[in-house]
Amino acid sequence: MSKFSDFNFKGHKALIRVDFNVPIKDGKITDDTRIRAAIPTIKKVLQDGGSVILMSHWGRPHKDIEKKPNLTLADFSLKPVIAHLSQLIGTDVQFADDCIGDDAMQKAKDLQAGQVLLLENLRYYKQEEKGDKDFAEKLSKLGDVYVNDAFGTAHRAHASTAVIAQFFSKENKMFGLLMEAEVAAAENVLHNNKKPFTAIIGGAKVSDKILIIENLLEKATDIIIGGGMAYTFFKAQGCHIGNSLCEEDRLDTANELLKKAEAKGVCIHLPSDSIIADKFAADANTSSANNAEIPAGWMGLDIGQMAIEQFTKVISESKTVLWNGPMGVFEMEKFQHGTKAIAQAVAEATKNGAYSLVGGGDSVAAVNRFDYADKVSYVSTGGGALLEYFEGKELPGIAAIKG
Ligand code: AMP
Repeated sequence: MSKFSDFNFKGHKALIRVDFNVPIKDGKITDDTRIRAAIPTIKKVLQDGGSVILMSHWGRPHKDIEKKPNLTLADFSLKPVIAHLSQLIGTDVQFADDCIGDDAMQKAKDLQAGQVLLLENLRYYKQEEKGDKDFAEKLSKLGDVYVNDAFGTAHRAHASTAVIAQFFSKENKMFGLLMEAEVAAAENVLHNNKKPFTAIIGGAKVSDKILIIENLLEKATDIIIGGGMAYTFFKAQGCHIGNSLCEEDRLDTANELLKKAEAKGVCIHLPSDSIIADKFAADANTSSANNAEIPAGWMGLDIGQMAIEQFTKVISESKTVLWNGPMGVFEMEKFQHGTKAIAQAVAEATKNGAYSLVGGGDSVAAVNRFDYADKVSYVSTGGGALLEYFEGKELPGIAAIKG
């Protein structure tokens, strides 16, 4: 693979896989974070004197049309992106109604230095998600250099994210700037971390996070467990957790994880108390309770004050912090205090020299909502991809480029 920043794109047609799977409502983009994240990569190619062909997926057309037959492929078009993208790049973006075929080929061929072509949604073709080799080869003909800048789909072995790479020589395939930054941040935490290394794992379910916890037992010194998943651990130890979230079929798993951690000398921190509620609702009555004795009829929806202090201390002593998953039902005001306090603690640790990576869906939403995104070292754009990376899996999108 080549290094993107060292590559001179003058005279090249760069075929860039981006992730423009942005939320669109009534034809309007409601959050352009993913588009903005790809702009530095696009601009570098243009500034070098190259041209850019962009390809992306949007939504799940075939699966959704199966469920709702009134939908058509046109409801999944990338056309609403054109105007906003043109504005962000500062040049008119051309569009091809089909990502392969004569029209796309001709438009790509005619593209002059400094020009940008956006291809229609890759997932119009079922072959994309199937990782079809012929489809990947057709796409590959559109450019002479392949750049993967879509970390969000790096865990998928799709035609445009992985299979396509085999049609480019080593020198002519590379990560884009976003992908490079994502991989560097993840490697920093998993392989080049400074100790103490604390992983903060929250969210709803233990079952979703077993693999990541198991892999982190090999890497971290401390693992903080918060959010709904913590109660399964308490129940597994015979505590009364009231109506709190619990995965009865994961009680043994929870105990096994605790045992493994002890054997490996990894410190698992469970929250000592909770903010409890009499129903799962924004207007619930609330109180606080020790997590060993949550009264019947009540449920823990956020970590309590003692837990905040306990977790803050661990975080403040860390040199590396990974955060995935909220500490409570942060979508409701009454139960967002714990997640906010942890965001504050991670920001504080970062200010004091720790390296912090926040990634995976809801914790990213939380740092954005509470305005801490620029106070941590890196906020990942990859939900599932980042999780799989920390589960220790090789991501097809990364492997295909590295060769
Ligand atoms: P995940 O996608 O697994 O990271 O879980 C995120 C979701 O977990 C968010 O929607 C939170 O509202 C939810 N959550 C966090 N803590 C709790 C809790 N104590 N009880 C129920 N849901 C929770």
